[in-house]
Amino acid sequence: MVLFDNHNHSQFSFDGKRASVEAGARSALEKGLGGLCFTDHCDFYVPPMKAAYENLVPEEFDVALQQKEIDRVQALFDAEGADMKILKGIEIGMHEDCHERIREHMGTHAFDQVIASVHYLDGTDPFYGGYYEGKDWNTAYGHYLETIYREMTWLGDFDIMGHYDYVARYAPYPQASILYKDFSDIFDEMLRYLAQEGKALEINTKSYKEYHGRTPVLDKDILMRYRELGGEIISFGSDSHDPGRVGDGFDRHAAFVKSLGFRWSAHFEKRRLVQLPL
Ligand SMILES: [Zn+2]
Repeated sequence: MVLFDNHNHSQFSFDGKRASVEAGARSALEKGLGGLCFTDHCDFYVPPMKAAYENLVPEEFDVALQQKEIDRVQALFDAEGADMKILKGIEIGMHEDCHERIREHMGTHAFDQVIASVHYLDGTDPFYGGYYEGKDWNTAYGHYLETIYREMTWLGDFDIMGHYDYVARYAPYPQASILYKDFSDIFDEMLRYLAQEGKALEINTKSYKEYHGRTPVLDKDILMRYRELGGEIISFGSDSHDPGRVGDGFDRHAAFVKSLGFRWSAHFEKRRLVQLPL
């Protein structure tokens, strides 16, 4: 089984200073992956509360510089006879205030694959906790899912829906996981859209780690429902921000996905779907 890690951050992401394209690619090679994609952050909207913590705005990256560095490392690997693909990606942070800039950015650059994500909403960054204040778990998770659905159907121009469970990672509630049974209506809409439009559901292995003593799990009912609706495009992403985490948890999650009847893992090259047998 050959897997691609489709979600990695490098030195071109505002929070990727511990990573480099070359170190990430070497780690992927050591771990026997078929390839990896650098999907650096591009968020045109950054909540004011975040700017108060860190001097991080703006969070866009220089696409030309990142792609030039990927070309350099790919040429190095080719010269060494290393059989691995290093793909050019972006993780576009969707936000209703920036539709025009997002559209323009997507129209002026070419990528292998595009992950559509939501990092900031309600003027907050869930990572810092403000998002959860005054919300019970149901409202906090449901509102996040509805926001992704609204924004991704607006965007349309993407390949992979990124970490739908981002909001569960940093949540303070005992309900650590986002489960299909609790949000079946919105999941039906999201999964039907992905299946019909030929877009990938991301298994983001960073979400299934321990945070504040709670460990979210990947709900098999979400995957089963996606399959039932005709979806079969599964993308694995570690969301690594350092080389050590590239491909993290892939063996376990690939076996899980395969046990549910999925036959392929997916990635995109020049925005075209490539599926490899699981
Ligand atoms: Zn992300």
